[in-house]
Amino acid sequence: MHWPGTPVEHLSRFQPAFCPRRGCPEHLRLAPGFRFARHGFYSTRRRWRIPRFRCLVCRGSFSRQSFAVSYYSKRPELLLPIAAGLVGGSAHRQIARTLGCAPTTVTRNAARLGRHAILLLAMARHELRGKIGEPFVFDHFETFEFTQDFPFGVATPVGAKSWYVYDLDPAPHGRTGLITEAQRRRMGLRPNRSRHGGYLSSTRRVFEGLLDLALPGTFTVIGDGHKAYDRAAREAAVRGRLRLEQYPNPERGPKGSPRSEAARQRDERMFPVDLLHKILRHSLAHQRRETIAFGRRLNAVMEQMFLTAVWRNFVKKRSERLARSGTPAMRLGLTRDRWPWTRVFSRRLFPARTPTPPTWDRLYRRLWTSPLYLHNSRHQLKRAF
Ligand SMILES: [Zn+2]
Repeated sequence: MHWPGTPVEHLSRFQPAFCPRRGCPEHLRLAPGFRFARHGFYSTRRRWRIPRFRCLVCRGSFSRQSFAVSYYSKRPELLLPIAAGLVGGSAHRQIARTLGCAPTTVTRNAARLGRHAILLLAMARHELRGKIGEPFVFDHFETFEFTQDFPFGVATPVGAKSWYVYDLDPAPHGRTGLITEAQRRRMGLRPNRSRHGGYLSSTRRVFEGLLDLALPGTFTVIGDGHKAYDRAAREAAVRGRLRLEQYPNPERGPKGSPRSEAARQRDERMFPVDLLHKILRHSLAHQRRETIAFGRRLNAVMEQMFLTAVWRNFVKKRSERLARSGTPAMRLGLTRDRWPWTRVFSRRLFPARTPTPPTWDRLYRRLWTSPLYLHNSRHQLKRAF
């Protein structure tokens, strides 16, 4: 995957390759030959002599900053420490205290980081189409938005050998387990929430995406016995190509007792996805058990999960114990070395120029609203989109 290592802010001889304005025909240019004129410089207290340009087609002007992930940001130096803090188990206010900024600054930057992560993963996914030969280990990660009355699963297909996270797809569903009379009454007063088809639709969307990624011929998905996976695997779109191996969780004795053969086999086959879920619970403040930092909105939870997937795939080693262990992206041949955060954020990505799966695009725009709020802020800025 072609992705520069040097942040655009550090390039003194930067030249734009396309127009950053969405409405301009030159915005979608992929080939060289973009016509622009130099248009002076500007300076701020933090940055010195930032070159400005003018597009010779739409006559709009822009600067080098229009191509940086820190576009329009007054505290660009916060971006990396916020990303590191989010996947390091800190909640927004804790990060704000450490960095000396307002908590809302962290929240807004977390959304920006999440959007960038969505587009970066979309780019990688486009690159991987039709190339994946390994089985996909598949399960839903359970979480909730605002209250445990509004749970949702997040589909997480992981490479059986590379441990690469290929997709993230939300599946809102009803409350499960034992429900007390008081809980039932309270749930009756809650507003209705669209489930977007729950587990079945979520699984269907992911399976169709995997169809795109896999090498021609049949490919294997390893699941934990969920009924929705069986149903989705029988559907016409994937039938004949998708081979589903299910390993339902067998009865287990008390903690510490030896595992049965079936349990051992299940744990072995599901290991890559079980490990990912452990990492998510361990590394994200949102996802700790019994936390007060739980996610309030599905969109925001998903943004943080996308950032974590970028970290998992490109930044974090497969095994931190082993000195020479590469990243999942290196295993797939997508990258040659481990990326530092500076490389992840070296360029701004534009949604119109990035082929993005429909579900990811809806999350990018924050269209997946939470019903408990009268106000759901969407992402629909004109320039900073
Ligand atoms: Zn233009």
